[in-house]
Amino acid sequence: MQVFKFGGVSVKDAISIKNVANILKNKANEQTVVVISAMGKMTNKLEELVNSYFYKSSDSLLIFQEIKDYHFNIIDQLFVNKDLLIVDEIENVFLEILWAIEEEPSNSYSFYYDQLVSQGEILSTKIISAYFNEIIISNKWIDARGIIQTDNSYREANVDYLLSKELTCNQIIPLLSNYNIIITQGFIGGTSENYTTTLGREGSDYTAALLAYFLDAKQIVIWKDVPGVLNADPKYFKNTKKIDELSYHDAIELTYFGTSVIHPKTIKPLQNKNIPLFVRSFLKPDDIGTVIKNINKRNTATSYIFKTDQLLISIQPKDFSFIAEENLSLIFSMFSKNNVRVNMMQNSAISFSVCIDNDKYKFDNLLLELQTQFKVLYNDNVQLMTIRNYNQETITKLSENKIILIEQRSRNNYQMVIKEME
Ligand code: ASP
Ligand code: MG
Repeated sequence: MQVFKFGGVSVKDAISIKNVANILKNKANEQTVVVISAMGKMTNKLEELVNSYFYKSSDSLLIFQEIKDYHFNIIDQLFVNKDLLIVDEIENVFLEILWAIEEEPSNSYSFYYDQLVSQGEILSTKIISAYFNEIIISNKWIDARGIIQTDNSYREANVDYLLSKELTCNQIIPLLSNYNIIITQGFIGGTSENYTTTLGREGSDYTAALLAYFLDAKQIVIWKDVPGVLNADPKYFKNTKKIDELSYHDAIELTYFGTSVIHPKTIKPLQNKNIPLFVRSFLKPDDIGTVIKNINKRNTATSYIFKTDQLLISIQPKDFSFIAEENLSLIFSMFSKNNVRVNMMQNSAISFSVCIDNDKYKFDNLLLELQTQFKVLYNDNVQLMTIRNYNQETITKLSENKIILIEQRSRNNYQMVIKEME
C-alpha cells in the first residue's frame, strides 16, 4: 500500500478538488491512504477565530460566518444533488463550533486552539470523502483522532507511537480489503480523554509519514504546487532548481533549517523503515518530482533557506555573571517548556542570542519566564538566511543592502540573521 498527502493548496476550491479526484483515478490503483489538510487558508482563518474568541479581539461570529460560507460555497460547486447527508453533517460541525465559541473560555488558549483549529481538517476530509463517493471513487473516511494518539501538549502534541501503531493497524488494515482508498486528516490527533490535539503547523506531512511507518507502506507521495524539493523558495528567489534525489540525511538537514516543502518531523519515521518519499506536483502529476530515499550520495548543490518574521533575542544574566552551563541549562528548559524551537543561537561571555519564529503567544509566555531571571532584549522583524553548501560569493550577494546582526558558519552551512537597511 501507499500513502498520499494533499495539502491545503491542493484542495483550496472545487476545481482543485476535482484535480485531486483525477490524480486518485490515475495513480491510486493500489491500496492508498490519503491524508488531507484543511482547505486553502482555512487553518489561518481558524487561528483568527480562536484568537478572536479567546482574546475577544474581534468579532468571532463574522470570522465564523466567513469560514462557513467558504466551505458551503465549495459544497455548492461540487455536488449537483443538494439534498445530501453531507450538508447536514457539515451543518452539524458548524453548529458545534458555534456552541464552543458561545461559551466563555475556561481552559487554556492552546486547548481551544486545538479543539477549534482541528475542525479545518475534519471539514475538508468530510466534504472530499463524500464528493469522491458521489463520483464513484469509493472510499472510507477515518477519524485521525481515533488512531493518532498523543499526550496533551496542545498545539505540539507528542505522538504515542506504540499505541497509535496498534490503533492504525487495527482500524485500517481490515478496511483495506473492502476499500482501495482510505481518507483521513493530517495534523490532528486525540488524547486518552478524547480531546483533540494538533501536531504543530504544517503537521500533515508528519501524519502521512507516521501512517506510512505504521502500515509499512511501499512509498509516500506528498503532492505539492511545486515540481519537487527546490534549492530555494520561488517566493523569494528567481531561477530555482529542482533537486531530483536527496538522501534522508540531506532532507533532514534541509527541513531542519526551514525548507518549507516538508515538515521537519516527517523524515525520521520514513528513514527508520526505508520508505521512499516522493514530492510531486499535483499540477503535473506525471512528472517525477523529487525522491527522498536511502542513498549514499551527498547533495552538493547550494540551497537557500530564507525565514522571515523572526525574532532575535538576547538573554543576559541580571547580575552580569557569565553565560555558563547553569544559565544555559535554565534557558533551554524555559524554551523547551514553552515549545519554542531555536532556529539559530550564539553566545558571548555575558549574552546568549537566539533566533526564533515570531509566534506571539509562545513568545509572550517565554518572555515572562525569561524575565524572572534574565535581562532580555529583542529585535523583531528580522530574517534568517541559511545557505547550505555556501561560498563567499553567495554570501556577499545575499547580504547586499542588509545589516548582518549575527552570523555563523560551519563546514557546509552558513547562517545569518539580517535586517533591512533603514
Ligand atoms: N492545516 C494545517 C496547517 O496549515 C496542517 C497542514 O496543512 O499540514 O498548518
Ligand atoms: Mg495547511
